[in-house]
Amino acid sequence: MAATVRRAASSVLSRFLLTKPSPSPASAAGNKSALLGAGAAALHRFSTAPASAAAAAEEPIQPAVEVKHTQLLINGNFVDAASGKTFPTLDPRTGEVIARVAEGDSEDIDRAVAAARRAFDEGPWPRMTAYERCRVLLRFADLIERHAEEVAALETWDNGKTLAQAAGAEVPMVARCVRYYAGWADKIHGLVAPADGAHHVQVLHEPVGVAGQIIPWNFPLLMFAWKVGPALACGNTVVLKTAEQTPLSALYVANLLHEAGLPEGVLNVVSGFGPTAGAALCSHMGVDKLAFTGSTGTGQIVLELAARSNLKPVTLELGGKSPFIVMDDADVDQAVELAHQAVFFNQGQCCCAGSRTFVHERVYDEFVEKSKARALKRVVGDPFRDGVEQGPQIDGEQFNKILRYVQSGVDSGATLVAGGDRVGDRGFYIQPTVFADAKDEMKIAREEIFGPVQTILKFRYTRRMIFF
Ligand code: ADP
Repeated sequence: MAATVRRAASSVLSRFLLTKPSPSPASAAGNKSALLGAGAAALHRFSTAPASAAAAAEEPIQPAVEVKHTQLLINGNFVDAASGKTFPTLDPRTGEVIARVAEGDSEDIDRAVAAARRAFDEGPWPRMTAYERCRVLLRFADLIERHAEEVAALETWDNGKTLAQAAGAEVPMVARCVRYYAGWADKIHGLVAPADGAHHVQVLHEPVGVAGQIIPWNFPLLMFAWKVGPALACGNTVVLKTAEQTPLSALYVANLLHEAGLPEGVLNVVSGFGPTAGAALCSHMGVDKLAFTGSTGTGQIVLELAARSNLKPVTLELGGKSPFIVMDDADVDQAVELAHQAVFFNQGQCCCAGSRTFVHERVYDEFVEKSKARALKRVVGDPFRDGVEQGPQIDGEQFNKILRYVQSGVDSGATLVAGGDRVGDRGFYIQPTVFADAKDEMKIAREEIFGPVQTILKFRYTRRMIFF
């Protein structure tokens, strides 16, 4: 344990620790008694900031965007699923249906892969100059910016993240990411390797072919950009499967990409479920490379399906349980705020969330008390409303899973100092929740909760240890 803390501490120190003189023993003692008061009862299950309760009772704000695309995008056309089936995509604020979306399955994946294969083998995309590919991507970035308001509104509506975050951070990051990869298109150099004798050894970088890409629901647009941007810049063609919870924004921006000049068949977007459309993509013999972002368990399935089919290479970006470490010389107020944002950002739905908060025993009581106060102040409500910091969780399944983790924290003896319950009686809102006195062996300290739950653990170390 000590070694883990030390290792984690050194990596986190540079990012998170802000030094300040240690608190005096007197103030630490005062904070400790405050903590005991809070911890002894562990009865804050129903304590919610007034703003949260009020927000949940309000009528949902009508998003300023129209849902234009609900079909699959195959070979440059919006088409129905081969089966004709559709599935509902839900508004996490209410659980009501936003739209019904074409439900792709293996036959649609076959059609999409065939289109991508044709576009790769015969189409202009891998053959045009890298500069032309770069220009298509740059035009796409411009179009994203031109349509930023609709794109952000769609993302907030389908996902539940705040509009402030979607419009203020994510859509600009998507445009920036696309421009970044556009810039790479004509800078992918080969190399000449030194060789013995009269030989010329040259390494050429070529596109792989048809890239299968599977993305999650927590950052649908950003994941779209991270996956599609580099694959297209390099001259590949793509079949992208979006997450079943958030199919809308990818269809919208994929249409913009065609408006920017992308040839047909180069990007195909199939909405649908993991075990059907997703698994078909992973197993497909016509897919040359897979890129997946999602949960660790699904990543294991993806890798297996790829191995059992054509051994296609796989890139995985999976879950985590990242430590956030607060040493005894930290500025506690600043550390509280940073730790709060590290775990609560995006409703806690981040693979890199700082979801294990380790706090040195000397500042622990003060830290817990202030973290509790900060969580109780967090504004939960309609993500379209100004000033809201936290919207609903993505869906009922995640919502229930998070509440089961909360129950497991209580059952295993951690002290619930804030939150712990739902907000309101509709949609998937959860109170910002803080556990103190967590121990390494507890589930809440070991497993990825993927929700607004902070787990605080106490550690001690002697200064000598950091010089080992
Ligand atoms: P979560 O559990 O957080 O929803 P998942 O890892 O299950 O995360 O989902 C991430 C993506 O993986 C989604 O697009 C989902 O449809 C897809 N997926 C889920 N199960 C499978 C599967 N068996 N094969 C391929 N893709 C899958």
